[in-house]
Amino acid sequence: MHIKRPLVAVSTDISTFNLKSTSCLFFLSETSMGLIAENLRKAREIALGDSRVPEELKHYLQEALDVAVGLDPYLDAMATSKQTTSLEGRQLNVKGVEPKVKPHKECTSGYLKGQVLRMFVHMVGAKRILLIGSLKGYSILAMVEALPDDGKITVCAAEPYLGVKSQEAFDYSSHVKKISVKVGSIADTLEELAVVGDHFDIVFIDADQRNPVNVYNFVMDNHLLRMDGVICVENTLMKGQVYLENVSDENVLAVRKLNKVINSDPRVEQVILPVQGGLSVVRRSRASADGMIESKVLVKDHVFWGYNRCRILDRLRLDGKVAYVTGGGQGIGRAFAHALGEAGAKVAIVDLVLAKAEIVADELSLKGIKSMAMAADVSKPEDVQRILNAIVARWGTVHVACNNAGINMNSASEDTSLEEWDKTFNVNLRGLFLCCQAAGRIMLKQGYGKIINTASMASLIVPHPQKQLAYNASKAGVVKLTQTLGTEWIDRGVRVNCISPGIVDTPLIHSEDLKPLVQRWLRDIPAGKLAQVTDLQAAVVYLASEASDYITGHNLVIEGGQSLW
Ligand code: NAD
Repeated sequence: MHIKRPLVAVSTDISTFNLKSTSCLFFLSETSMGLIAENLRKAREIALGDSRVPEELKHYLQEALDVAVGLDPYLDAMATSKQTTSLEGRQLNVKGVEPKVKPHKECTSGYLKGQVLRMFVHMVGAKRILLIGSLKGYSILAMVEALPDDGKITVCAAEPYLGVKSQEAFDYSSHVKKISVKVGSIADTLEELAVVGDHFDIVFIDADQRNPVNVYNFVMDNHLLRMDGVICVENTLMKGQVYLENVSDENVLAVRKLNKVINSDPRVEQVILPVQGGLSVVRRSRASADGMIESKVLVKDHVFWGYNRCRILDRLRLDGKVAYVTGGGQGIGRAFAHALGEAGAKVAIVDLVLAKAEIVADELSLKGIKSMAMAADVSKPEDVQRILNAIVARWGTVHVACNNAGINMNSASEDTSLEEWDKTFNVNLRGLFLCCQAAGRIMLKQGYGKIINTASMASLIVPHPQKQLAYNASKAGVVKLTQTLGTEWIDRGVRVNCISPGIVDTPLIHSEDLKPLVQRWLRDIPAGKLAQVTDLQAAVVYLASEASDYITGHNLVIEGGQSLW
């Protein structure tokens, strides 16, 4: 590709706008509305100095001026400031020197755009961002802050000050490890990125360069933007010049051409927002594949498009689903509840101890997940029926039943009391059966459901040196029950599977008797560590989702390899 001129690297920094809010003329004149305001101001001055102009006309001019002048500062003022302390008062100037005084917020051209870009990073869930051309330091830092710890911004900069010095300028930031600056020809840098097969969630292009169309085409043709990714193009309104007649400025004509090219590109959808110099948001659409593959022989089937047009991660989502988790008040059940909720389900937390269930339900609510807490002893049929009735009354049905409550009591087999045996079996097997049956009846009626039981690695091996006959036998029973129901109900839309964790670091194993055994157990675990509850979360989401519809009666063992040694 040929980009004739290096990107114009005139990124005036916010720290140079340290004016009072009433005189942010420079700031205003960057935007279309600023230009309107300037012209209205001149018209008003002429009108005020001319006695022939009717008072009514002066009044209308004043009203229009007030609205025009007020808009941009108001948008800036209303954009929530969420800077972390690392950025507070530490805006950059062009030399990378940290100014001592924080610029007045209303005058910080770039502030609003920075906030908008930060929103995009959150909304897209971006991890990798490519910046091509100049961008104000504030905008880069706003995006960097919104990136997760393993996120990365690659900055392609033609001019040294945007390269070396910018990198120096970023060095103070705790987020600096996320920024990588590549100085040199933009075309060469893009070629390099394409060769190594990099692709990005958001690509930021500054339109203010001689041939932005080449940059745009290169990004699209070489798949630097991932499918469903977003391109943001800055400066696409050029203070309104792009849509005015009789414009001869070369840069304006280049941006006008870019807007048209994007608008007529079947691979993308575009919207231009009047944010500062104009911000185009360009989304690469899935249908774009049609345009990309004309010359190739490709099979456009479920594999290509995704089953039911859903790509694999979307197929794991549980939006609109109703789930419950027994023993959800702590440990594995709590982690299951969070995972199902994060995947989109409403979740009822069921536990013997209401207070524990309520805390977890509150945690979910804080994350915007619909939840409810209920007390129940799963070994009692009336309790089980009550919770299912309550869930159906509140949310209409149950799609995902997570029967997880369980207890473990240790004793040598010759000493195991009938009481211990019954207690263990009542919770671990009878309770689980009651839940499967009650939830299963609802699911069979609606022809759809996912039951996920918590068994244990103890169903496969005999964990030692602790003695736990009743537990081991009850968990083997859970696996057989799962296999039986899984085959009996599959043809009526109900899948029944179980998860068998190895030794998981939860309160269940924190008893005084078991704690000293941890070092002994570690020697038996190829993974060299105990499982964490988070190690089990993806499994429950998978088994709850439609992505696992062909799996039934399965015992999904997650034990770091322990059962294989
Ligand atoms: P945990 O003891 O930390 O939590 C269990 C929860 O279940 C508690 O909140 C408890 O109040 C609740 N509960 C107990 N009896 C109940 C009943 N009758 N009705 C309703 N709720 C009841 O246990 P955990 O480690 O999170 O284990 C959860 C499940 O995972 C259990 O079935 C357990 O057997 C199984 N498991 C645990 C491990 C492990 O190493 N922690 C390993 C394999 C399997």
